[in-house]
Amino acid sequence: MYDLIIIGAGPAGLTACLYAGRSRLKTLLLEKMVVGGRILLTETIENFPGFPGGISTQELIQRMQEQVKSLGIEIKSEEVLELDCKLRSVKTGEKTYPAKAIIIATGALPRKLGVPGEDRLTGRGVSYCATCDGPLFKDKNVVVVGGGNAVAEEALYLSRFAKTVSIIHRRNDLRTCAILQEELKKNKKINFILSNVVTELMGSTKVESLKIKDVNTNQEQIIICDGVFIYIGYDPDTALVKNKLKLDGAGFIITDEAMATSGDGIFACGDCRKKSLYQVITACGDGAIAAESAYKFISKDISYGAKRT
Ligand code: NAP
Repeated sequence: MYDLIIIGAGPAGLTACLYAGRSRLKTLLLEKMVVGGRILLTETIENFPGFPGGISTQELIQRMQEQVKSLGIEIKSEEVLELDCKLRSVKTGEKTYPAKAIIIATGALPRKLGVPGEDRLTGRGVSYCATCDGPLFKDKNVVVVGGGNAVAEEALYLSRFAKTVSIIHRRNDLRTCAILQEELKKNKKINFILSNVVTELMGSTKVESLKIKDVNTNQEQIIICDGVFIYIGYDPDTALVKNKLKLDGAGFIITDEAMATSGDGIFACGDCRKKSLYQVITACGDGAIAAESAYKFISKDISYGAKRT
C-alpha cells in the first residue's frame, strides 16, 4: 500500500512529490497526459523567482521531475477513472490503488468559446496552445482571443512567427498585468480588436475566417485569418470529485489553509482548488503544504489533528 497517491504531475503535484519524498513517504504520482501539465502550453515563465529573464517551462519541469525522481517517487502514466474519497483509493484503467492519503493536483482545462465551428476546426487552425502550434503559422495572420495574462504572453510569442497577431477581447481593456501591456503596445505586429465577441469560426477544411460582433453596436464583421488561438481562462479539472468533495459554484475544490478538502485524508493543491492567485509559484506553495499536511495526517500528528477539527 502506498502512503500517498498524488493525482496530476503539474508544478503543484511535482512539488507535493518533492516534499513527500523528503519525508520518505511511499508515494505514487499518477499523470494521464504529460508530466508538466498546462504550464507546458506556455513557452517561458518570467515570474518564477530565481530566474531573471525567465526560464523555459520545459526546462523548469524537467528540473522538477529530476528532483522528484532522485527521491524514488514512482511515476505512472495512468488516468484516474474513479476516486473513492471514503476508502481513499483510486482506480485507473490498469488497477485500483489504495493509499493512506491522497493529494488531488489535477489542474485546469482550457475553456472553450462554445461557438459554431470551434470543435470542427480544432487542430485545423483552432488551437489552445501557442507553444505547440505557433511555429506552424510563420508569416500568417492569426487571432488570439481573450484578455488576461495568457493572451498577452501568447500573442507576444506568436508575433515571433506570424505576420500579424490580432487580439480580440470582449471588453475595451485587457486585465493583463502592466509589464505585459507595455510589451504588447510596443510590438508592431500586434493589434487590438476590443469590445467584440467571436460568434463563429469558419473554414471548409481549415480556419479561413471568423465572425465577430461589436458588443456595443451589435455590428458584425468577418476577419480573415489562418489561425485562432483561444485563451479565455481555464476550468478546474475536478469531474472526479463532483458530488464527493465540497466544490464552489465553478467546480473548484474548497480547501482550508492546510490544503485539506472536505474528505478525510484527501488534500488538493494548485489550479484545481479555490484560491485567489493562480500562478506556478502559488501552485508550488500549495503542493508543499499539501504534502506536509498529508504527512501529518498519516503520522497522526497532534498539531494537524487540532487543525482539522
Ligand atoms: P483569465 O485571467 O481568467 O482571463 C480570461 C480572459 O478571457 C478574461 O479577459 C475574460 O474576459 C476572457 N473571457 C472569459 N470567458 C470568455 C468568453 N466566453 N468569451 C470571451 N472572452 C472570455 O485567464 P488566463 O489569462 O488564461 O489566465 C489564467 C490564470 O493563469 C490567471 O490567474 C492568470 O493570472 C494566470 N496566468 C499568469 C501568467 C503570469 O503571471 N505570467 C501567465 C498566464 C496565466 P473578462 O476580462 O471580460 O473577464
